[in-house]
Amino acid sequence: MELRLYDTLTRTTAPFRPIDPKNVRMYVCGPTVYDFAHIGNARPVIVFDVLFRLLRHLYGADHVTYVRNITDVDDKINARAARDFPELPLNEAIRRVTEVTDRQFHEDVDALGALRPSVEPRATEHIAEMRALIEKLIAGGFAYVAEDHVLFSPQAMNAANSVPPRYGALAKRSLDEMIAGARVDVAPYKRDPADFVLWKPSKPGEPSWSSPAGIKAEGRPGWHIECSAMAWKHLGETFDIHGGGIDLVFPHHENELAQTCCAFHASRMANVWMHNGFLQVESEKMSKSLGNFITIRELLGQRPSNPRWGEILRFNMLRTHYRQPIDWTEAGLLESEISYGKLRQAASGANRLRIKPSEGVLEALADDLNTSEVMAELHRLANAARSTSPSDLPVDAANELAGSLQLLGFEKSIDHIRSDDIRGDIQRTYQEVAARERGLDPKHLDELLVSRTAARSRKDFKESDRIRDELAAMGIVLKDGKDAEGKPMTTWEVAR
Ligand code: AMP
Ligand code: ZN
Repeated sequence: MELRLYDTLTRTTAPFRPIDPKNVRMYVCGPTVYDFAHIGNARPVIVFDVLFRLLRHLYGADHVTYVRNITDVDDKINARAARDFPELPLNEAIRRVTEVTDRQFHEDVDALGALRPSVEPRATEHIAEMRALIEKLIAGGFAYVAEDHVLFSPQAMNAANSVPPRYGALAKRSLDEMIAGARVDVAPYKRDPADFVLWKPSKPGEPSWSSPAGIKAEGRPGWHIECSAMAWKHLGETFDIHGGGIDLVFPHHENELAQTCCAFHASRMANVWMHNGFLQVESEKMSKSLGNFITIRELLGQRPSNPRWGEILRFNMLRTHYRQPIDWTEAGLLESEISYGKLRQAASGANRLRIKPSEGVLEALADDLNTSEVMAELHRLANAARSTSPSDLPVDAANELAGSLQLLGFEKSIDHIRSDDIRGDIQRTYQEVAARERGLDPKHLDELLVSRTAARSRKDFKESDRIRDELAAMGIVLKDGKDAEGKPMTTWEVAR
């Protein structure tokens, strides 16, 4: 089986050949940690987690290095820090903000079944590498100092015949177009409108470090140089795969590529550039002003009585091919919930000692992560596993279904093969159907349950009793029990 990946730089799908199969290296631009991550941010996390898992399967778990950075130098972080911790010195306040948001991000993406990357470097810990890169770029004639800024010159890059990549090759824009398109009020210290910042002086109240190139004033890095520095430190001058959302192609990745190739006189930064399509919500661009901005945390909290909810969100994300735009809708989530439940039930006949991913699923994944084809294959396996005809080898199909679900990161989906937790799941599905038959929306019942739990935890027993009575009037009773880890939890059931 041959892994084929689509490369944004060449606009072609080609066989993937790692530079060193003993150490396959991937860099993905991570989140800027200033608030809860939204469901759009979850897309690259899940997509590249699937690729990470596939690479580990193909090359061995110890032979893949996955770096996903944490951007902790950013104006939005500074603003947050000043707002939330006005009494603390700025650096301390920034550390507090990023510690909290970093932890939230990890909890959220853990719940979506994403493995932790091999390394999660922070921009603030790589300032020395950024300064070193900037010095190389100045020495090579690709960057210059002006009014305490260091600027990169795309024109210098394109004039140097020794360096093959042209500026604009990734985004497929010509330099002339970019210059023409640049804003009229170009900063006066720029020699050319297309020049971009590698380093700039810090304003009062901003974090600052000693500057490169003999600049006396303290300063801070530009965003693009951060990723070039972290990728260099952890993966070397040239590596295999660079990924992120499609919005990062220009200017972020174009500039990363320019910086790295010019600093090392290399023709490539990464051999394959991969970009996930954008996510929108109910057919609209997600935005706070439209009121359709959803955080991963909010989504995870929507169905507290369903222990599979995080996996259902993951499943919903993977139904669409990663390069296509995705429309995140309530209706789609409901379909995923039903569909994923069916697959899990069909996998429950597997023998845990014999599970393995199916060839069909591996082939589809190897075809530029064709997860929509993977879904079709999973349903074929589920049908075969449920089939009573002996010629269909139902047990093998169940083993392959369970193995494929595990490979795709639905690890909990095979937990029940070891325990009898499947009964809890079937019970849950049964209750949802029973509720729908009575014209009740299971999601609304979950929401009432959340409000009741919140009321109880703030000792507002009047409100919690009121919600219980409201549920009782609908024919719903509450049951106290334990979750898979043995923690107490309350669920609802249709009264008999
Ligand atoms: P940010 O924190 O905005 O730099 O984004 C972190 C990652 O999430 C980047 O790879 C972005 O491309 C990606 N991303 C942000 N918004 C969306 C969206 N609506 N759909 C898909 N990916 C997104
Ligand atoms: Zn980046």
